[in-house]
Amino acid sequence: MAEQRHRVVVVGAGFGGLFATKALRNAPVDVTLINGTTYHLFQPLLYQMATGILSEGEIAPPIREILKRQENVRVLLGTVTEVDPEQRTVTAVAPGTSYTVEYDSLIVAAGASQSYFGNNQFAEHAPGMKSIDDALELRGRIFGAFELAELATDPATIERLLTFVVVGAGPTGVEMAGQIAELAHRHLPGQYDRIDPRKARIILIDALPTVLSTFGDRLSTTALRQLHLLGVEVELETKVVDVDETGIEVETRDGLRRIESLTKIWAAGVAAPALSRQLAEATGAKTDRAGRLQVNPDCTVPGHPEIFAVGDMMALDNLPGVAQVAIQSGKHAAGQIKRRLAGEEAGQPFKYFDKGSLATIARFHAVASVGRFHFAGLAGWLLWLVVHLLYLVGFKNRVTAVMHWFVSFIGRGRSERVATFQQVFARRALQQYRDHLP
Ligand SMILES: Cc1cc2nc3c(=O)[nH]c(=O)nc-3n(C[C@H](O)[C@H](O)[C@H](O)COP(=O)(O)OP(=O)(O)OC[C@H]3O[C@@H](n4cnc5c(N)ncnc54)[C@H](O)[C@@H]3O)c2cc1C
Repeated sequence: MAEQRHRVVVVGAGFGGLFATKALRNAPVDVTLINGTTYHLFQPLLYQMATGILSEGEIAPPIREILKRQENVRVLLGTVTEVDPEQRTVTAVAPGTSYTVEYDSLIVAAGASQSYFGNNQFAEHAPGMKSIDDALELRGRIFGAFELAELATDPATIERLLTFVVVGAGPTGVEMAGQIAELAHRHLPGQYDRIDPRKARIILIDALPTVLSTFGDRLSTTALRQLHLLGVEVELETKVVDVDETGIEVETRDGLRRIESLTKIWAAGVAAPALSRQLAEATGAKTDRAGRLQVNPDCTVPGHPEIFAVGDMMALDNLPGVAQVAIQSGKHAAGQIKRRLAGEEAGQPFKYFDKGSLATIARFHAVASVGRFHFAGLAGWLLWLVVHLLYLVGFKNRVTAVMHWFVSFIGRGRSERVATFQQVFARRALQQYRDHLP
């Protein structure tokens, strides 16, 4: 009878899980990759999907297609709800079914979810930016607000509809605010009869005193100037204290203030996924304040050398939740498994190579911090373009993304504007349905 090969289960097909799986391509292992969706999501471009530049297919290629030439991998749809470290099994659920898979080595790369800092009720009126569903809902809300403003007659209602508030001035918030401003000032003018989209207010709010605080003072100041040039109102040292259907309440040094706005976008805060808590309870591992698993320097879970936690859900040396940490830690976990199977010494600490940070503010303008080098303006934007093309998965996706960028950045088109009522209202309808369940 043929000897059973080493079984590796990878949970999550984001950057961490996908790159770990690919790194095991020629290893003498059988890999089972379990993911909650059928696609690999390129989260850094979600904001372009929400603002009509890219389509969902371009940033979310099917996992099966990406891995179709890798013979030692089996792809399964499922949300892993439980890891049993004693039995060495994971249990997953998919619509109408559940199943259990055994492993010899486990790589958990379940990413992160949105945090509302204990105010989950804000989510109903201020969607986050973590998933395709979020971006489609936001697309519907943003373009829908302009449509409703065209129908409205009361000036206060029009103003509320044309006020967009983005909470969180990190890269996602800055990119989102910049794109809504470009939409209002450059793409939509001339398409409506009664309203002038240029009158839209785009407000970017953060509790901190700077935008893009992790990029350093110089780039932060450049980004702030560029946002002002785009017409974005930046309100710093401003804390959101309440969000409801028609507005947002903020606290500043001068006290409480209300901003009337139908469209609010939450781009602040991350929390570890539910699986992180379950894994911590099952293994006795500790978690940090965001719920991320505290791992050993080699990315293994303490007391369980066969379990690795990588990417956004691991807490190690204060590493940031960025794509490169996930990619490199996923590859490191795969490398450790290969070393063990080859009888080589393992347990080497994960060493992160910081390739830098990028954030676009508008077309032809981005800030980039690469080691000691700081770029802004066109140079930063060209670097952004090259990096995103390199990491977008799939040749076809790269070609169509470039075409869409050409249409949006050189021309004035926003071709991916399809939005349905289902996209906008399904989440709330589902929530209400769940609330009424016994
Ligand atoms: C809007 C946005 C913009 C960003 N911009 C940048 C940027 O410009 N540059 C940068 O470096 N980083 C950026 N990031 C961060 C970057 O995307 C993450 O650091 C990276 O995706 C983390 O990879 P990961 O594999 O840990 O998790 P993810 O990529 O989130 O992947 C997790 C995967 O696990 C799956 N999953 C989750 N739970 C389960 C479960 N229980 N069972 C099965 N599957 C599960 C999910 O479906 C998903 O496919 C951005 C993130 C967001 C949200």
